[in-house]
Amino acid sequence: MAWLVAAAAVAAAAAGGPLEGRTVVLDPGHNGANGAHPDRINRQVHVGGGMYKACNTTGAATASGYAESRFNLFVAREAARILRRDGARVVLTRRTDHGVGPCITRRARIANRAEADAAVSIHADGGPPGGRGFHVIRPTRIEGLTDDIHAPSRRLGRLMRGAYEERTRLPRASYVGGDGLVARADLGGLRLADVPAIFVEALNLRNAVDARRAESPRFRRRIARGIAAGVRDFLTR
Ligand code: ZN
Repeated sequence: MAWLVAAAAVAAAAAGGPLEGRTVVLDPGHNGANGAHPDRINRQVHVGGGMYKACNTTGAATASGYAESRFNLFVAREAARILRRDGARVVLTRRTDHGVGPCITRRARIANRAEADAAVSIHADGGPPGGRGFHVIRPTRIEGLTDDIHAPSRRLGRLMRGAYEERTRLPRASYVGGDGLVARADLGGLRLADVPAIFVEALNLRNAVDARRAESPRFRRRIARGIAAGVRDFLTR
């Protein structure tokens, strides 16, 4: 009977949380075996409005070889755990780091079909070695593509920037402009989103200081707490 009691306790903990009834899609960018399958990830996919992009890319890495895809999955799993504890239903676009893809089109479709209240793609940048810090990317307004989700995505982006900054104490990336919140028209995942969607470039893997943080499990958990806090602020404020 002990397991029944434990199961009931878990259900009770989830019920009544601040995010009960809300759905969050977390998208850990790239995948561990992408580099070994260029034929599959370089396939061109339609991302709306006549624009075509590669199905997926390999992602960045630190100088010592710690891969962005691993970083992204670790952070996504940890953020998912926190958000589920708050009562949310959380869907991940991939669960392992030894696969290929999925294509950016499929990642967007997963969030759209889940009717997510918020979708966050988790990345770590491969920026200039001299530049540090994080930035959040939101979709520009594109008629017929992002006109429906542009405004809530901007709000999600602003709240994410604030919560992430507060929790991680990382600087806003100076090498991209935009004061930590950048609007882009070219990201397939944002062009195809029918739900509020952003990317978080958590830090810069090519910078030595940021790389040390990325390679620390303790700091990765702090990053996950920052992302979870940004989502929670968006869904509860
Ligand atoms: Zn990336």
